[in-house]
Amino acid sequence: MVGDWAYLDTAATAQKPQVVIDAIARCYGPDYATVHRGVYERSATMTLRFEAARATVARFIGAATDEIVFVRGATEGINLVAQSWGQRLNAGDRILISALEHHSNIVPWQMLRDRTGIIIDLAPLTADGRIDEAALIAMIRPETRLVAIAHVSNVLGGVADVRRLADAAHAAGALLLVDGCQAAPRLALDVAALDCDFYVMSGHKLYGPTGIGVLWARAEILDSMPPWQGGGAMIETVTFEATSYAPPPGRFEAGTPHIEGVIGLAAAIDYVTGIGIERIHAHEAALVKQARAALSGLNSIHLLGPEDSAGILSFTMAGVHPHDIGTILDDAGVAIRAGHHCAQPLMGVLGVPATARASFGLYNSAEDVDRLVAGLTRVTRIFGITK
Ligand code: PMP
Repeated sequence: MVGDWAYLDTAATAQKPQVVIDAIARCYGPDYATVHRGVYERSATMTLRFEAARATVARFIGAATDEIVFVRGATEGINLVAQSWGQRLNAGDRILISALEHHSNIVPWQMLRDRTGIIIDLAPLTADGRIDEAALIAMIRPETRLVAIAHVSNVLGGVADVRRLADAAHAAGALLLVDGCQAAPRLALDVAALDCDFYVMSGHKLYGPTGIGVLWARAEILDSMPPWQGGGAMIETVTFEATSYAPPPGRFEAGTPHIEGVIGLAAAIDYVTGIGIERIHAHEAALVKQARAALSGLNSIHLLGPEDSAGILSFTMAGVHPHDIGTILDDAGVAIRAGHHCAQPLMGVLGVPATARASFGLYNSAEDVDRLVAGLTRVTRIFGITK
């Protein structure tokens, strides 16, 4: 429970622990100063904390500190890759994505396609709503330069076997980009073991602030990428004639950074690792199991996604629009998400206009699931559905 509210929309954004709010308040209060440029002590201290936060993020995902690029969120991370790394692609090159991707892992590639003439291929799903990995692997062609997939689907909750897809992509000379937005808050991550090439995530889904996220890429890939935004902090020297650029990650962080976002994100990561990501995963898995068992007792409900979905449970109800479900549940103090979840193409594949989605976080309890089930039973009564 969050207060007296059953908050079941953590996949959209997580509620913030007090330690994160306190870290941001301290940052804006007694500690406040800019980073990287100040010659006075407070700025130097803030710079140390800012760079220590980068090291915290790096440890959290098993990366080297210089491979961590701070961005606005997963969306900006993917756009950065499309606009910078994407410059090396030519007409006829191919990018392979899956049918369950979030718009942020579709639209940047379409924009790149419209600029360059690349081709986007679409891997299908299995009957239970996972990426069909065998089919995806069979679709990797010599022209495929990048495979880009969600680690955990924000609609169906299925977990991709990243290592398997990385091996297949690399065998064909392609790279693998992983959208880790929904994985970072609930799966232990080690980018070296996953052997992917790019990994993106958003701070606000990881119990941290909005407006901050992470792009990780292998050092040699980041080194080879041109800057995407110009300005302060991303340069080595500037004259009116020419500019030389800073090495990564600074090359990709033009302008004054989101200082309190970075500090708040590190506080969130410390909080999550203090609890233990495996414990969070097991806790959410138990709640999903409880919800699946209870909801499968309501005839009108159709559960979507695989049995072992990670923290996320989408469903539809015969004869009731998900928005009506969401509104009636809201009256009962239960917050779920209803809509296309920024995955409109997936709705087409599922053959529904929208789904209702309950998603769990470390603060949810069995009582929240009970309230969800009671709320849905009320929906069936209001709509005159017999169970
Ligand atoms: N990918 C996935 C799987 C997501 O769930 C989301 C957020 N719903 C995003 C990308 C985009 O994240 P953001 O809006 O924080 O950039």
